[in-house]
Order: sequence, then structure tokens, then C-alpha cells
Amino acid sequence: MNIDGLIATRASTINGSGIRRVFEIGASIPADRKIDLSIGQPDFPVPQAMRDAACRAIQEGRNGYPLTRGIIELRDSIATRLKADLGWSVGPSSLSTSASDPGVVVTAGTSGALVLACMALLNEGDEVIIPDPYFVLYPYLAHFCNAKAVKCSTYPDFRMTAARVEPLITPRTKLVVLNSPSNPAGVCNSDQECRELLELCRRKGVVLLSDEIYDEFAFSECRTQSWVNGTRLGEPGYQRKACPSPARFAGSEDCVLVVRGYGKTYGVTGWRLGYAAGPRRLIEEMTKLQQYLYVSSPHPLQWGVVGAFDVDMSREVADYERRRDLVVRTLSKVTEVPTPGGAFYGFVRVPEKFGDDTNRGENFFQAAVKRNVLVVPGRTFSQRDTHFRLSFATPMTNLQRGLDVLVDMMK
Ligand code: PMP
Repeated sequence: MNIDGLIATRASTINGSGIRRVFEIGASIPADRKIDLSIGQPDFPVPQAMRDAACRAIQEGRNGYPLTRGIIELRDSIATRLKADLGWSVGPSSLSTSASDPGVVVTAGTSGALVLACMALLNEGDEVIIPDPYFVLYPYLAHFCNAKAVKCSTYPDFRMTAARVEPLITPRTKLVVLNSPSNPAGVCNSDQECRELLELCRRKGVVLLSDEIYDEFAFSECRTQSWVNGTRLGEPGYQRKACPSPARFAGSEDCVLVVRGYGKTYGVTGWRLGYAAGPRRLIEEMTKLQQYLYVSSPHPLQWGVVGAFDVDMSREVADYERRRDLVVRTLSKVTEVPTPGGAFYGFVRVPEKFGDDTNRGENFFQAAVKRNVLVVPGRTFSQRDTHFRLSFATPMTNLQRGLDVLVDMMK
């Protein structure tokens, strides 16, 4: 049978993930020589309490279908967190007071939330504005819905501002995606930038999707906004200052869809757990779609993260901040790298000697592979190929060795 001829253009017209390609090329480098700075996954161990909770749930037989919107205990923990952090009253607990309150749904990873949001909002020909450079899934979100991803160039500082977004809004725009701290640049939007984006989206009647998967990975100088209700319910030492979010402004819940996840924060990317909170009507439609698309996220693993917000990750984040400092200190001697305020990536400018705007990220990547270092070429995240992404989710000694090679290449 000619299976080739049967494949839908939805699948055949997209490329496999550029990050997967880096993995595959990296597999040819002997493990003892490889310096892998391409990884998008934290390198610390999963908190013991979370591992125990997940194992216990399996042993206790919590293995069947859960509620599509997520188990009540997890939604309660998210509700408590969002009340303290954003001042939002999401269901299902007593914290929810009226039908106009925002809703929440537990999703199959952060990706699951992004897909559901786009499927719930985008008709054929509708437009979603995404930053460029972008997380690799963003352009495909539109593609899967026969909609159009309009790329908002954020070069050279990688800031998604209202001034950059406004000229791109058309009558077909339904959604603007903000990602702060960002992948691939680690850039955090300021309080003012968040406010202006929120005001723009409200004025234009479009949803502002705030992808906050890296919210916990925010470094000291970017923790400029206070949690709306101050404390995290008696947790000593808990970070109550956070990277700015458009969702912390009063009344934001009628236009902001907040998407967050557990995978990066606690090193459980394989558990496939995230959540979306925002306008109740939109959350209801997303939940309905989830009934058919994913059914739910994994039941025992939901139990694994019920207590996640009680785990203090500030030591791990401080450790990443030290690595960030090393990256910026070292690379800024030879090139430009906007200081990552969060996440665990830097988006580094490749010197012109490696090629032009369409190929120098790739050329640099190929040259680095020859020296056993793995980074990700900028074209994976952008229409341009002038940068590379470096991940500092790797031990300090490994990072230092990799940086030495990269500096030597760029000199
Ligand atoms: N958003 C961004 C900005 C990301 O970087 C990622 C993962 N790299 C995701 C969403 C998807 O995360 P998840 O594994 O939770 O689906």
C-alpha cells in the first residue's frame, strides 16, 4: 500500500523537532567526550516527597481514569496557589465564589494546555501572534488548527512588548502568546511590559495566553512583582516575589489564560503534567476537548504533584542563577547574550565569521559538534539563524568546559 500517498498534509508538511535532530547528531559523539549544552530538562533529582507520593498512588490502586479536569485534591492545591499568587479564585474549592470566577483544568503537560487553548479558540484562517524566537511548538499550534501563526520579531533584546505586538493585530487575531521567562532566551518581561500587553489585549478583545512554565526559574533581579496575597500560607523561606505576570493585575482573569507546568520546576518532564487557568467559559471548552483528545493527564502522577507547591526549590534556582552568572560573564567577552532573567537558557549571538543571517547558527552548531559540544542552532526557534541556544541545566564543571570551547570558537 502507498502509505506515503495517504499521509495528511498536516503531518507531512511539518519538520521533526530540531531539538530531536540535535539529540540524534549528539548520539554520534562518545559519551565520555560529549559536553551537552542542548538539554531542556533540569539536572537536579526529583524531590523525594513527590516520588513517594506518585509510587504510593500506584500501590494504593489510583490507576484508573481520573476526572478529565483533574483530581479534586490537585485542583484544590492549584486553587490555593493561584489565590495566593495571582489573587484569582479558581474552582473547585470554597475559594471559588461565583460563575464569573476563572476556571482551572489539569492538562497533559504544558503542551496539552497550549494545544487545547488553540483548538478551543482558533478557526481556520484565524491568527495567533507568537514571539520570534519561539518555543518550537508555537508555530505548529496554529498549523494544527489551519490557523496562522504571526511571528513577532523580538530581536535583539527578545522582549515581547505591546509596541511590537500592536501592529500585528488584525480582525482575525484571537490570541497573543507571551512566554516569560522565555525559551530560548530566558528573558523576563517587566511589570510595565506585562501591564501594557494586558491592556492592549483587553482593548483589542483578544486572549493573552501567558505561558509561565518557567515561573519558578526566575533570578533575583527579575523577581520584581509580589504575590497578590503576599504569603504562601506559612511556608518559611518561600519565594513570595516572582517574575512579573500579566495575570497579577486586578481584573486580568477575564482576558488572561495562564498556563503553567510541573515538568521543569520539579524535574518531572516525563510525568506530563500542567494546568491552565483563566476565563471559565474558555476552560470549559478546553475541558470538553480534553475529554476526547487526551482524556486526562496520568492519574497516579497527579497525586505525585498534589504537594508540589510545598516543596522549596529556592536552592536549585539559586544554583541555576550562579550558572547563569557564569554564562553571561564568560560569553559577553566575545559576543552578545541578553542576560537571561529566568529559565535555564541563553540565546547567544553567533559572530558574522560563521556565515549570514540564514545559516550561521547552523554552521556554528556543526563546528561545535566537531569539538564535542552540543548547542541548538537558532533556526530551530526562529525565522533567522543568527544565534544558538545554550542550556545551563548541566553541572558547573560541564558548563565551564563547554563555555571554554565556545569562547575559543568565537574569538
Ligand atoms: N512552553 C515552553 C516555553 C517550553 O519550553 C516547553 C517545554 N520545553 C513547554 C511549553 C512544554 O512543556 P511540557 O513538557 O510541560 O509539555
